[in-house]
Amino acid sequence: MRIDASHKEILNGKTTDIYFQRAEEILKKEKKNPVVTAEVYARKLPSNYKWAIFSGLSELVELFKDSKIDIQALPEGSVFFEKEPVLTIQGKYLDFAKFETPLLGYICQASGISTKAARCKIAAEGRTVLSFGARRMHPAITPVIDRYAYIGGIDGVSAVLSAKKLNLEAQGTIPHSVILVMGDTLKTAIAYDRTLHDEIPRIILVDTFGDEKIETIRLAEKLKNKLDAVRVDTPGSRRGNLSEIAREIREELDDRGFNNVGIFVSGGLDEFSLPKLNPWVNGYGIGTSLSNAPTINFSMDIVEIEGKLITKKGKIAGKKDIFECQRCAGRAVVLSDTDEVKCQCGRKMETLTKPIMKKGKITEKTKNVAEIRNRVISQLRFLNV
Ligand SMILES: [Zn+2]
Repeated sequence: MRIDASHKEILNGKTTDIYFQRAEEILKKEKKNPVVTAEVYARKLPSNYKWAIFSGLSELVELFKDSKIDIQALPEGSVFFEKEPVLTIQGKYLDFAKFETPLLGYICQASGISTKAARCKIAAEGRTVLSFGARRMHPAITPVIDRYAYIGGIDGVSAVLSAKKLNLEAQGTIPHSVILVMGDTLKTAIAYDRTLHDEIPRIILVDTFGDEKIETIRLAEKLKNKLDAVRVDTPGSRRGNLSEIAREIREELDDRGFNNVGIFVSGGLDEFSLPKLNPWVNGYGIGTSLSNAPTINFSMDIVEIEGKLITKKGKIAGKKDIFECQRCAGRAVVLSDTDEVKCQCGRKMETLTKPIMKKGKITEKTKNVAEIRNRVISQLRFLNV
């Protein structure tokens, strides 16, 4: 049984909320279809985030190909803050009303995942972070989750299809099941080394049966410099202090001259658990907290009708742009037709939002995934979690 929406259904507006169909019905009957400007912004970011990463735009624009819609937006992969209009859409209202649901759906989840990935990457302080979240969500969106985690700055993904679409090599070791079937960690490691291609790193799970440190030393003494790293994925009930376990492994490896053997940790990690592990650990596999990242609650509201300022209670009317000062990074949200926006520091501010689509034609060359990710990475050093 297949129940996920096809692209055709999404592009035909079939995943819309019924109330947009009702709106269409009423406005068509009343012969009202004015030119409307609507803006998309997040009133509040989730989990006390101070900033977020905007992503999902390259998928969103597909909704309006061959329409008469204009879109202006922050470039995909940009940092944004609460109450900043990341996207403005302009056109006849009935040309885009029913697309509000999928439009928000594309960017709310994507931006949530990219933001979480960026937070984890910052917390890892240069260590490798891999996306292991495929198993936590519907498989139809596996490549979606991994794309936006990758855009957010993580280094690789475990799911084979995601890696293919991102032009990466999928990354991972072996599951506990192989060690259980083989009956012993060392026996499995020897078989792994004998069977798998030389280019695949020798990274062995060390928490299936015995103590993580004792298993690590057994492996290192037998495989010697062939052992690239061990992975610790100890269940929460047996963890005690994971950072102490990692420290013990690191110190005893070093004491025996195995300084080149790395330590990877996975299982229930997020941006808050990494700093305590960083002194001993070389890389992380992060699953649930990426795939189930808090969504960014963008909303879309009309701010002008036929060029006249109008909006609902609790919002500010008028088409606006996000401006930034290139000297002090100060930001402001100001009406788009303002002649010159001056920063508090005195310098003239530049517009960050750019025309993306004019009458259904993409005006800005669509950036590929690596370019979008590079934009994110270039901003990470100015941010903290
Ligand atoms: Zn300034």
